[in-house]
Amino acid sequence: MRSRCRALALIVATAMLSMLPGMVDSPPANADPGVFATEPVTWRVTTSPVQVTELLDAGFDVAEYRDGDAFVLGDAAVAERLRDRGLRPRFHDTVYKEVADVTTAEDTFYGGYRTAAAHLAHLDTVAAAHPDLATVYDIGDSWRKTVGQGGHDIKAICITARQPGDCQLSPSSAKPRFSIISQIHAREIATGELTYRWIDHLVNGYGTDTEITELLDTTEVWVVPIANPDGVDLVAAGGDRPVLHRKNANTSHGSCSGTGRGVDLNRNHTFKWGGASSSPCAETYQGPRGASEPEVVALEQFFAKIHPDQRGPADTDPAPADTRDTMISLHAYGNYVIHPWGWTANQMAPNAAALRALGTDMAQYNGYRVGTAPQTVGYTATGSTDDFVYGAFGVAGYTFEVGSSWGTCGGFLPAYSCVDGTFWPANRDAFMTAAQAADSPYSDGDPGQPGDCVGAATTSVPLADRATTESPVTVACERSATSAAAVTVDITHTYRGDLRIDLVAPDGSVYPLKSSSAWDGADDVRATYPVDLSAEAAGGTWTLRVADVYSGDTGTLNSWSVTL
Ligand SMILES: [Zn+2]
Repeated sequence: MRSRCRALALIVATAMLSMLPGMVDSPPANADPGVFATEPVTWRVTTSPVQVTELLDAGFDVAEYRDGDAFVLGDAAVAERLRDRGLRPRFHDTVYKEVADVTTAEDTFYGGYRTAAAHLAHLDTVAAAHPDLATVYDIGDSWRKTVGQGGHDIKAICITARQPGDCQLSPSSAKPRFSIISQIHAREIATGELTYRWIDHLVNGYGTDTEITELLDTTEVWVVPIANPDGVDLVAAGGDRPVLHRKNANTSHGSCSGTGRGVDLNRNHTFKWGGASSSPCAETYQGPRGASEPEVVALEQFFAKIHPDQRGPADTDPAPADTRDTMISLHAYGNYVIHPWGWTANQMAPNAAALRALGTDMAQYNGYRVGTAPQTVGYTATGSTDDFVYGAFGVAGYTFEVGSSWGTCGGFLPAYSCVDGTFWPANRDAFMTAAQAADSPYSDGDPGQPGDCVGAATTSVPLADRATTESPVTVACERSATSAAAVTVDITHTYRGDLRIDLVAPDGSVYPLKSSSAWDGADDVRATYPVDLSAEAAGGTWTLRVADVYSGDTGTLNSWSVTL
């Protein structure tokens, strides 16, 4: 057996990756990496999933893994270290974009991005100007503040047309709640600018804009614009060359240098903590235990105060159809709307169909691709914020990955003009959709009852050598299947290249999921395959057909499921 991935459990899904839509952006053919020798750029490296895990644990900054290529941030010395490992890095894109020569306000950097202090001051300014709409809370301290090295309070603002009892830190509120957080990953700098605009959009629109007025009359909107203020201080200290710091500023867990210091706060949540990197200098270091970091303690206590617990304790317990509250955690980049589960590729969240339906509603505005982390970014992520709010409370939680992979508006550090030119107009109405759904996020699509447009087979079936095995599941569902359906497969096998996998629809139509490959000698198939089933009725008997086409190895189909 190959060793199980720990840092970044990558989904080995050749067929899935080949089905990804082509990227709109493409790198310049004649770019000369030599001119960027001393500053970080993005290197594209063809690697196996196992090598990506090794790169992460060795402290390489892997920004994404797509189509069999890892995208690694670093300067010429990092490229040399990649070559030392036998890899062949190719220049993909610059990290730093041109900084417009404009006069910007104090407390900004890199052409206009606000510092943590500016974002926090903005909350108090808004509350002072709109006392009947906005309330600010201190919900905890950053790591530096807890150890007396400066740091910041972590602040939340609640916005609603306030009636007695509104905007209290108590789960029993009269109004449903939508919360949105940004910059838990410090260097994803456009995300704080989006929540800044969202706050202004609401308080300025109340009383004049019908949609906003109706929203704030019926719903509480909570915003934590800077979830990782120490990290944002480190980023902003770079000025026109922002420091690519992702984690918090905690230096107590290991002797790491530069951006290797700190804990990845979006791997440190308590729900399903423990599947990310245990190497303190890795970019996805999960910390020594769940909620080891004061920022995550603050966020989890905050969410526990504003959301009632509406979901049972088992992974398979759906949140009931009358569940309330929605949450978005903003990240960069990739142009994705991501819903739980992120911690596993082997089973769908019990409310997956409804989570996908609301995600698809939001994606009508920003055009992003909808799916779980394994279905979008291509890897599992344990200890994330969206899994936490869904897993712990049943809240419809999402991660948005804002921005593309390449170009002026791509990567972690897009030009400031991209915020108003691209990101805000694309996401404003997606945020509004999530806020308006806070009263009943699961009313659209699957209400969370077993058997509704999701089929699963959990009895294991042996896969004999050179034989075809079929596993049927019957789905009771009245509507059509969707273009964003998904099949999740868990197979134990000693040579997975032997296997060809197809999905057979109730009417006999065949949808290829995975082809065989004599050269793919790795073990096991644990993958989720997106598939367009919009031509099919969802109800009926669906069959997974697994053909072992080469002799010598056998295995077991442990389970599979289809979300229609
Ligand atoms: Zn992020």
